[in-house]
Amino acid sequence: MAHGAHGSPLLPPRPDPVLARDCDQCLGWGSVVTRDGHHELCPACQPGPTGRQPGDPRP
Ligand SMILES: [Zn+2]
Repeated sequence: MAHGAHGSPLLPPRPDPVLARDCDQCLGWGSVVTRDGHHELCPACQPGPTGRQPGDPRP
């Protein structure tokens, strides 16, 4: 039985590669690295951690 490290809080975001495919900002990765070295979802092609829904009237 292998004991894995479950529930790591440092998991990188999971971008949607389909959305990122033609993106120039993340070059298809769907995520970008900030100056602090953190991985963030690409703001240009990914919906983002706020999870804005299609048709949401809010900006
Ligand atoms: Zn992108």
